[in-house]
Amino acid sequence: MLKVVKFGGSSLASSEQFARVKAIVESDPDRKVVVVSAPGKRFKDDTKVTDLLYICHAHIKYHASFHDVFEQIADRYREICQGCGLTQDLEKELAFVEESMNAASSVDEIVSRGEYLNAKLMAEYLGYTFIDSKDWLRFNYDGRVDFEGSYEALQGLFAHAKQVVLPGFYGSFPDGEIKTFSRGGSDVTGAIAAAALDADAYENWTDVSGILMADPRIVDNPRPIEQVTFGELRELSYMGADVLHEETVFPVRSKNIPLYIKNTNDPAARGTLILEEFERETEDEKRRFVTGITGRKHYSIITVSKARMNEEPGFIRNTLKIVEKYGITVEHIPSSIDSFSFVVSTQKIEPCLHDMINEMNDVLHPDRIKVDHGISLIAIVGRRMAWNVGVSGKLFATLGENNINIRMIEQGADEINIIIGVADKDFKKTIRVLYDSFT
Ligand code: ASP
Repeated sequence: MLKVVKFGGSSLASSEQFARVKAIVESDPDRKVVVVSAPGKRFKDDTKVTDLLYICHAHIKYHASFHDVFEQIADRYREICQGCGLTQDLEKELAFVEESMNAASSVDEIVSRGEYLNAKLMAEYLGYTFIDSKDWLRFNYDGRVDFEGSYEALQGLFAHAKQVVLPGFYGSFPDGEIKTFSRGGSDVTGAIAAAALDADAYENWTDVSGILMADPRIVDNPRPIEQVTFGELRELSYMGADVLHEETVFPVRSKNIPLYIKNTNDPAARGTLILEEFERETEDEKRRFVTGITGRKHYSIITVSKARMNEEPGFIRNTLKIVEKYGITVEHIPSSIDSFSFVVSTQKIEPCLHDMINEMNDVLHPDRIKVDHGISLIAIVGRRMAWNVGVSGKLFATLGENNINIRMIEQGADEINIIIGVADKDFKKTIRVLYDSFT
């Protein structure tokens, strides 16, 4: 058996956290591939090493000394090194990294050093082999991952090492230059490593006991989700649940590798298992239809009305062609006979709204175009909602009882989600009352 385990920044923020990680890795001999982030926050107002590295880059760009900021970074690693009793020559490594950071360094190269140094320390601590991700994780010049090339390279290196630590977040272009993923990208490194080595599991260790049914900033102590399908996860993440980097899913999903979210600070907690589908429902799941509730604020509903619109072929298409011309993506299209609406992000539509409406008036000659800002979209997601009578009844009853007006409703044909639009002022209240009613 082979498990790829990735630890996030807060799991690696100090020597104390390093000790927890070591205990977790050593408790299961299958945990042979360890992917690390850079040291994250130790407490609420702390600064992540990656953020400090971005600050170093800004100093270099404006020709200011970055030494003081680099010292803050160095102290983070010194504490880990001393606290874990490591013997490698950290000062030499730090000096080398600091010297290599200059006006010719790319921002990706600079910010990747957080993971690089952490992986060096973790490798010694575990007695595993350090493999630099620039030597296996390959990017094409268009910025996309070369999956086959990366898989082959890691397989070759792993065959000689057997127990390895890999820095997350970066790889390299064909000419060897460092390239990072977007923020949070160590999740993706772990997923690619798991797919490359056909792992039996990919465990993503973080500081929460799995994916939660709702945002803990809105609902007190939301329940963790025990099992979620990749499809549900996609819906939840798209609609605002902050779970994994969005590119994480593809490599593991394509190879059907189970993905676990676990808590470094509470390893015994069950966490969340993510799979393509589940054969059996847990006892807990049998009692509930809903997997998670999430949402996003600040949408606009634009309603185009024209009498007998239904008899005018191409009316909706011509309207949407104009929206497309302005590079705006449409989230939902609720419609009736003489009008139809489309829901878009307010932030995206604002700069071009007036031009777009003028063009619609000129081309389509509608009776009216109405714009409503301040809309929140709330998604109720659950694979068990499909074909189950009563879910939407309960939903509407709950919102009605709580005096929440529904501005829009939509249900996908696979019945995995129901999306409702409410006023921004009702955003939190809606999530709270739905959570209470469906748990
Ligand atoms: N350290 C990087 C960040 O803070 C990458 C990661 O942790 O996944 O975004």
